[in-house]
Amino acid sequence: MNTCRFAFFFVLLLIPPLSSFTKNNTELLQKDKFVVVLDAGHGGHDPGNLGNGYLEKNIALQIVLSAGRELEKDPDIKVVYTRKDDTFVDLFVRGKIANEANADLFVSVHCDSHSSDAHGAGTFVLGLHANRQNFEVAKKENSVIYLEDNYEERYAQYDINSPESVIGLTIMQEEFLQQSIYLGKKLQDNFTKSLKRKDRKVEQAGFIVLHQTFMPSVLVETGFLTNKNEGGYLNSTKGQNEMGKAIAKAIKSYKADLGSGLELETPKEKVEDSTVDLNIPKETSSTNEKVSSQETKPKETKPEETKVVENTEVASNTTEKQEPTAKKDVIFKVQLMASSRNINLTPGNFRGLDMLSKEPYKNLYRYMYGNAESYEEAKRLKTKADAQGYTTSYIVAYKSGERVPLKSVVK
Ligand SMILES: [Zn+2]
Repeated sequence: MNTCRFAFFFVLLLIPPLSSFTKNNTELLQKDKFVVVLDAGHGGHDPGNLGNGYLEKNIALQIVLSAGRELEKDPDIKVVYTRKDDTFVDLFVRGKIANEANADLFVSVHCDSHSSDAHGAGTFVLGLHANRQNFEVAKKENSVIYLEDNYEERYAQYDINSPESVIGLTIMQEEFLQQSIYLGKKLQDNFTKSLKRKDRKVEQAGFIVLHQTFMPSVLVETGFLTNKNEGGYLNSTKGQNEMGKAIAKAIKSYKADLGSGLELETPKEKVEDSTVDLNIPKETSSTNEKVSSQETKPKETKPEETKVVENTEVASNTTEKQEPTAKKDVIFKVQLMASSRNINLTPGNFRGLDMLSKEPYKNLYRYMYGNAESYEEAKRLKTKADAQGYTTSYIVAYKSGERVPLKSVVK
């Protein structure tokens, strides 16, 4: 009897604790640094706007460097810059830097201009232009592509002169819309309450640079250089440091809320006048969904029926899909997207692509296409993904089932 009981407890000790997927996520979150990509707009032969003779490229850089200095004081934050000096960086490269860094946030910093004496600070997230004014801001910032080589090929999918052209482009960032707006509101709070800048609110518009990234992303228009007072403020060291610190403070606050497990939603105050069709895949499961996107759905649309999957099932599905990777030494895949949603791996949810896999990463799922044994084959898969509209997808590598930097396995 005693032996029996002892054996029973011994067996209990051998069973590993059933940790939920959510717990694993939290552990991952604690282990990794919070990566922030700071993107100073323009640079090099692209000065940005020249209101009152000031240089947008210099002001944006100084604000970014100030924000970076502040963020780097936090040992849990890693700051990645798209540029730290006066160099020209292609728009698509800015997004690539952020994606390859697996960043948690992307913050692009700019200054606005206008023929009137307009002033104030505003934050943009990617979405449909709610009005002509927002469209014009995006058009101005997007026009930098004309300064890049091969822009006609590279940005063939964008027609920056057409207000409608952005509709098909918002899908990627929709995954992060709520988080982006959440950060945007914190930024605006700091600009307006602490620094008394005029509140131009969080708005949506079709910025190409925001369409390139796979993480919550915002573009800050810190103010108007064309306005005499505001231009002078932004061109001053005091103004640049204050704006930089305000940006850093908002990012830290966002990170703290994320770490505390708060649902990053902005349910009551919506982005003004915006209607965004979120195009949620029908098979989407609601389990582990961090961000509710229901709030921004048009009223007429009935909520999609969601299938609830048990945590254990999620975990086993994920393991199952990763198995083929573990068998080969080096495997290449094409990462299509990352999302807070647990999306079923059916071709219908991925524009007809098959050979899909997913893996949890931080508080997201990464979605990959293909299972190639050579880099050449992976490049062919990337071309196929591009053709299906996943133009910001990129090749990733695995060694013995673990994701490794591409550079470490490709000569
Ligand atoms: Zn700009």
